[in-house]
Amino acid sequence: MKYIDPHIHMVSRLTDDYERMAHAGCVALSEPAFWAGFDRGSALAFRDYFRQLTEYEPKRAAQYGIRHFCWLCINAKEAEDVELSREVIAMIPEFLDRPNVLGIGEIGLNKNTPNESTIFCEHLELAASRDELVLIHTPHLEDKFKGTRMILDMLKNESRLKPDRVCVDHAEEHTIKHILDAGYWCGMTLYPVTKCTPQRSTDLIETYGTDRLLVNSAGDWGPSDPMAVPQLILEMRLRGHGEQTISKVVHDNPFTFFSKCRRFKAES
Ligand SMILES: [Zn+2]
Repeated sequence: MKYIDPHIHMVSRLTDDYERMAHAGCVALSEPAFWAGFDRGSALAFRDYFRQLTEYEPKRAAQYGIRHFCWLCINAKEAEDVELSREVIAMIPEFLDRPNVLGIGEIGLNKNTPNESTIFCEHLELAASRDELVLIHTPHLEDKFKGTRMILDMLKNESRLKPDRVCVDHAEEHTIKHILDAGYWCGMTLYPVTKCTPQRSTDLIETYGTDRLLVNSAGDWGPSDPMAVPQLILEMRLRGHGEQTISKVVHDNPFTFFSKCRRFKAES
């Protein structure tokens, strides 16, 4: 089955992963800008990272017939440094019109601090003023519920951003309803350590339906599995879900969300 992984950090993965994903049916993916496993020393390091996301990775993906899209920002972890964050945000417009950029992301909160909130809102301001899509990271484990509520409140205050142009990611059982009820797209991350498993995600799809739901692997530099979306496809099949329903979740939904970006050109 053709699928799209809407959240995966390919800069941390091997070229073999692209090949395995292509064999499993991956036709496109999107890579949000994120933490690299270490704090970067200057805004210049982000300039190189943005070049990697917009110039190098699309070529590596294309070797396997996979379309590569990305999102730009300074992640919530490094956003604790407000001065550095503002330098990075000031640089983003230079890259925003590159053809594989879908919008601003993954912005969000990590430890729910005032500095993270300040930088989150400044990213929202940039997205609203440029009419960009937004992809949002919600915090892990014990910080998730509070962080998700804070994020939804800050989003509400930026009235220029339409909910159907925003995806709030890493949802779990205790946050999914809040996100969907507010009209946002909602991402579920299949992750071996924290976040959802294919089984839990399938339970949530059975509870909430398939509208505005995205499923991703968030494969990155830590323990994670770039083949997580095919695992969900298998789990849904084993439970008797039809091919059309599965395809809606793993292909049509991310395709529809990406299509809201004016630079996204519909192909497969
Ligand atoms: Zn991520």
